[in-house]
Amino acid sequence: AQLMSRGLPKQKPIPGVKHVVVVASGKGGVGKSTTAVNLALGIAASDQVKAVGLLDADVYGPSIPRMMNLKGNPELSKNNLMIPLVNYSIKCMSMGFLVEETAPIVWRGLMVMSAIEKLLRQVDWGELDYLVIDMPPGTGDVQLSISQNVPISGAVIVSTPQDIALVDARRGAEMFQKVNVPILGLVQNMSVFQCPKCNHETHIFGEEGARRLAETLGFDVLGDIPLHINIRETSDQGRPVVVSDPQSSEAKAYLKIASEVL
Ligand code: ADP
Repeated sequence: AQLMSRGLPKQKPIPGVKHVVVVASGKGGVGKSTTAVNLALGIAASDQVKAVGLLDADVYGPSIPRMMNLKGNPELSKNNLMIPLVNYSIKCMSMGFLVEETAPIVWRGLMVMSAIEKLLRQVDWGELDYLVIDMPPGTGDVQLSISQNVPISGAVIVSTPQDIALVDARRGAEMFQKVNVPILGLVQNMSVFQCPKCNHETHIFGEEGARRLAETLGFDVLGDIPLHINIRETSDQGRPVVVSDPQSSEAKAYLKIASEVL
């Protein structure tokens, strides 16, 4: 806290990148990566946007390679920068491209930050309108360092409506506010389960929790994403719902969020 009151360390922009949007969550497993992927694709679908990048900063459990159906090692450019792997027109970079999927990585704090620094800056991103960063879950030093290291246009916070997830989401929001990162709003994920057979709706994680939290903290709810098997299956298959089934109501929920972010 003292460090913050003395002013923030200097943030260095990433050359060529206009806007950095981070997708964060207070805890794991709430759908942060799924949101980051579909948000990046949703942003790229807009007429106003030419190029989008996606950085997987979740070095502990990189899931972008699988969700974007990408693998392999990035080649190096003439200036020795890593060339991002591309699918669905999104330039992607992830620790998962640099290490074997099965290789256990024992990270120490500083290593994590230097790995993320490399994934951010030693990459030939080219000209990007938006770089979406899938943050590691939680609100520790790594999240704080990223926020202090690059100028961030805004943060999207993903939470389920469940109380415990909301407590963590609140902590996340407060962290961003402390380092002056604008919070674009909250995504309420898995808000309602719609039975694919009978269309009955169940609020498995409670109802409207994220909405109330957003109201208390004074920021917007960018959208609600239903708990839907189509989202899980398409993610696992590496063909995210926004590209594989853009007319579905699940895809439209992500597209709405993208339009709020733009
Ligand atoms: P996190 O990044 O927060 O750890 P993930 O995005 O990896 O979470 O999601 C965790 C699991 O939940 C994944 O298997 C994903 O496919 C699934 N999932 C996420 N959001 C939804 C949703 N709205 N409906 C169904 N499954 C979802």
